[in-house]
Amino acid sequence: MATYEVEHNTTDPRITNQDRPRRPDLSTFFATLSEITPNPAETRTREHAVPVPGDVSAAFRSLAEAFDVMRREHDIGGAGDDGGGEGGDETAGEDHHGAALIDQMIEALVQGAELPPREVEGVNEEFCDSLDRVPRSTLNDSQSCPICSNPFLDDPYPLVVRLPCHTTHLFDLECVRPWLRLRGTCPLDRTDFGKKQREKELERRKQQEKRRAAAAAVEDDEDDLDGMYV
Ligand SMILES: [Zn+2]
Ligand SMILES: [Zn+2]
Repeated sequence: MATYEVEHNTTDPRITNQDRPRRPDLSTFFATLSEITPNPAETRTREHAVPVPGDVSAAFRSLAEAFDVMRREHDIGGAGDDGGGEGGDETAGEDHHGAALIDQMIEALVQGAELPPREVEGVNEEFCDSLDRVPRSTLNDSQSCPICSNPFLDDPYPLVVRLPCHTTHLFDLECVRPWLRLRGTCPLDRTDFGKKQREKELERRKQQEKRRAAAAAVEDDEDDLDGMYV
């Protein structure tokens, strides 16, 4: 029975579309990331576990390599492509620094690999899941992903998200998600979502600690009362 399934399970989930540039394989990155950012349920059992710096370095290096693959596949960055476009008024006010963005991101990742932070400063998966999805019908031909610089509409089923920092900060979810998980910032304006999330989490823990202390105090009082009537 098992043999049947193995023999017939020939579907390769990584089928690539020949018309579009290949996406880098991020499985190594996400595997490394999961080593250094345990999911919330695990966090509770090993609350103050600090990731090993070598593992954090590996995550930065792995993402830098993936972005480098993307840069070569998409033929962006480095070469200083200044595309220009058809002069759509949508992009008129914006600097065309998209071509260099991936260079900056790779540079930051390489630096992160050399001097890894003590803990991962990225956002959690829930943050990525909760990002605004931009419907295909509201996108136009002049809009492209600032990371891979692929026009969103080249993809028949684009999965585009809007970061909360700015209404025009749109990205392919697949491009921005690994960066957000590791760095927690908007690649365009560096709004630090990871920091905001950590502050919120810290506040939540403080409140929890306060409640726990209060509950313990009540219990102590009850113990005292019990003692009085023994
Ligand atoms: Zn992209
Ligand atoms: Zn932004």
